Amino acid sequence: MSEVRVRIAPSPSGFLHVGTARTAIFNWLFARHHGGKFILRIEDTDEERSDSAMVEAITGSLTWLGLTWDEGPIHQSQRWDRYTHYLEQIKKSGRVYRCFCTPAELQAKREEAQKNKADYRYDRTCLRLSPEEIQKKLDAGIPYAWRLQIPDGETRFTDIVYGEMVKQNKDLEDLVICRSDGRPIYNFAVVVDDHEMGITHVIRGNDHQTNTFKQVLIYDALGFQVPQMAHLPLIFDQRKKKISKRDKAANASDYAREGFLPEAVVNYLAMLGWSPKDDREIMTLPELIEAFDLRGANKSNAIFDLVKMRHFNAEHIRRKTNHDLAVLVAPLLVAADVCTKYGLETRWRYLMDVIGLVKDRCSVLTEFVDQAACFFRAPVGYDIEGKEKYFSPEAADRLDRLADIFDGLADFTHDAAESALSGLAETLGVKPALLIHPVRLAVTGRTKGPGLYELLVLIGRQESTARMRAAARHIREAR
Ligand code: GLU
Repeated sequence: MSEVRVRIAPSPSGFLHVGTARTAIFNWLFARHHGGKFILRIEDTDEERSDSAMVEAITGSLTWLGLTWDEGPIHQSQRWDRYTHYLEQIKKSGRVYRCFCTPAELQAKREEAQKNKADYRYDRTCLRLSPEEIQKKLDAGIPYAWRLQIPDGETRFTDIVYGEMVKQNKDLEDLVICRSDGRPIYNFAVVVDDHEMGITHVIRGNDHQTNTFKQVLIYDALGFQVPQMAHLPLIFDQRKKKISKRDKAANASDYAREGFLPEAVVNYLAMLGWSPKDDREIMTLPELIEAFDLRGANKSNAIFDLVKMRHFNAEHIRRKTNHDLAVLVAPLLVAADVCTKYGLETRWRYLMDVIGLVKDRCSVLTEFVDQAACFFRAPVGYDIEGKEKYFSPEAADRLDRLADIFDGLADFTHDAAESALSGLAETLGVKPALLIHPVRLAVTGRTKGPGLYELLVLIGRQESTARMRAAARHIREAR
C-alpha cells in the first residue's frame, strides 16, 4: 500500500461530537497502524454555522484525546481559489450546466412534489435551455448556480466495511456544485480537498453514504481517482436514537471535566463499531494501534453506554501508576479546597499513597476528591444514616477507649491497630464490627471506604485518635 493518508473533517458548528470523535479515532488508529498521515481539515464553508471558538474547542478535544494530527488544520474557508480552479476544470468536462432557477421557483416545485407525495428531484429545466436562451439570461445578469448532470446508469463504490454499494442514478438529482454567489457546495469542496490532500482512505460515519455516491460522480467528472471508502456504523443512545447534541454523552469536550481519562475514552470509542476479534476489551493505545484493522469494523450500529465507558475508565485508572494519577488528581483536590497546592507538593509521597489506597474505588478522576478528602482534613460532618446506626452512647466510650489504647501502642502499624481493636472488642464482649464501623465513621465521616487499618495508619495515629475523640464529643453533645 502506498502511504496511507486519512483525515478528520469536522464542521465547527458545535463541540466535538462523540460520533466525530469516534471517526477521528478510527482514522487516527488506521494512520498510526499503517505508519501513514492523519490530517485535520476544518469544514467551515458555511460561514453562518461556523464559529472560531468551536474550532478551538474541537482542536482542544482532539489534543486532549491524544489524536495528534500530522498536517493541518486546513481551513476550507481559505481554499476558495482551489474550488474555483476545479470548477473551471469540471466545466471543461461538459458534465455541468448553469441553473438559473431561483430559490423561490425551486421551493415551489419542491412543495408541489410534496403535495403530490412524489419524490422531488430537480426537473432539469435549465438543462433544456437553448444556447440563445442561456445567453439572454446571462446578458440580463440573472445569477446562476452550476449543476452536475448525473449520467444514466448506476453509481458504485466498494466500501471496506459494507462491501459493494450501488445506487441507481435515476434516484439522484443533478446536484448543485457551486452556488450562484460562487461558493462551492459541500460535496464539491470535499472531493477537491480529498484529492488535493492525497487522501487514500475516506473513513467516516454511515450518515455520509448518500454523499459518497454524489462524490463518486464528482470524482468521475473531474477525472480523479476515488479514494477507498469505509463507512462506520452510527452510534445510538440506549433508546436506539441517534445521539443528539443535547445528550449527556454527546460532547467529547465534556469527558475531561467529568473525570474520564483520554486513553479510556479512546479505548471505549474504538470499541463502538470495531473489535480486535479476540476477547480483549481493555486495551492501551499501543495495543489498539497494533490491532486496528478496518476489516474488524462492525456493520451494525453501536450503542453508547455511559456505564460501560465508566467501567473502561475504572480499568484504565487501575493501570495507571500512583504518581501519574496524583498528577491528574492534585489539581482537582486543590480546586475543591481539600488541600493547598503547596500542601500537596510537600506531601507528594503521601498523596501517592492515598491514591494507591483509594484508586480501586474510583471510576472517574472526580471521584478521587470525595475519596481522598478525609486524608487531608477531618470530616466536616458524618454520614446521616451511619450516625443513626453507629454513633450510640456506648460508641462514644468505646471510641475514647480505643483512642487511648492506640496512643499507648509502641508502633502504630496495620497489625498492631488491628489486634488492639480486636483485643478491646474481646474485653468488651462485642463483635469487632461494633468498633470498626464507628471508628471508620469517626475518622472519615463515611460508612464505606478502603481497609480501615490501612487508612488509619496512613492518616496517622495522632490525627486518627484526635478524630475519634472529636466524634466521641460529638456523640455526647448531640444527646
Ligand atoms: N464535515 C463532515 C462532518 O462533520 C465530515 C465530512 C467527511 O468526513 O467527509 O460530518
